[in-house]
Amino acid sequence: MANNKLSLEKYIEWAEKEHRALYEVMLEDNAKDMDTAPIAIEAKMQEMLQVMQESIDFGLTGVRSRSGLTGGSAKTLAETMAKPGYKSLLGPVAQDALVYALAVAEANAAMGRIVAAPTAGASGVLPGVLFSLKKHRNLSNIDLQKGLIVAGNIGMVIASRFSLSGAMGGCQAECGSAGAMAAGAAVSLLGGSAEQVGHAVAIVIKNMLGLVCDPVAGLVEVPCIKRNGGSAMQALLAAEMSLAGIKSFIPADEAIDAMKEVGEKMPCAFRETAEGGLANTPTALAWAKKYFSK
Ligand code: SF4
Repeated sequence: MANNKLSLEKYIEWAEKEHRALYEVMLEDNAKDMDTAPIAIEAKMQEMLQVMQESIDFGLTGVRSRSGLTGGSAKTLAETMAKPGYKSLLGPVAQDALVYALAVAEANAAMGRIVAAPTAGASGVLPGVLFSLKKHRNLSNIDLQKGLIVAGNIGMVIASRFSLSGAMGGCQAECGSAGAMAAGAAVSLLGGSAEQVGHAVAIVIKNMLGLVCDPVAGLVEVPCIKRNGGSAMQALLAAEMSLAGIKSFIPADEAIDAMKEVGEKMPCAFRETAEGGLANTPTALAWAKKYFSK
């Protein structure tokens, strides 16, 4: 699909017409576009999975950011959930997806190495969902590699139709896109059809439409870290609905186009300038004043 504006619907039609898995047609298309062998792309995916695993491990050590604003929540949550008799509100898949998503986002805030999937700010969502599914659904790294190919292509479709940047389109374009990528990967890893991948993507985008980018003091910490956790939960709920046969009334490509419209009409104050939303609250402003005076 060497085309400026990519279409998830076209990938879905292609996979269905040829009775092939979505990741297969995407991989074939990517290899053709990049003039490379599929095996080279698969090797790159394995490298990324390795970095994702390391960033989860680093985050779980309880790292804190250099600013001192955030850190330690993934470790706290993991330790709390592991206590005997602890009654979690979430099931095991969601629990670990949340812990891992926070861990990677905290690793990012602490200047650790992460995979920007699709951005550093939203880097926790995809590893959170992928590695929780690996643990609880007995998946291999080869399985995850296939999910990563689907996720990456969903990200490329969004980038081609709009943007993956908070400065361009608010957090809907970062955490929203990451959630859509993770939902599509989850559906595909759990044996869902190509059409079900499309519905999961559309559901996440609809649920996160209009989310503003409002980082306190311009640092990718508050609200970014917890939003990674929230976005991972959105991905799982969308995957759950889609796998149960629930359809999105608005198709994925149109949902992405709606995100573009909302993003383009979003005031600058809500697009990573730290001039609005949570960044403009008294608590945030007082902290930023102290931080920048140091
Ligand atoms: S609030 Fe802004 S900086 Fe933070 S994750 Fe969302 S888009 Fe990125």
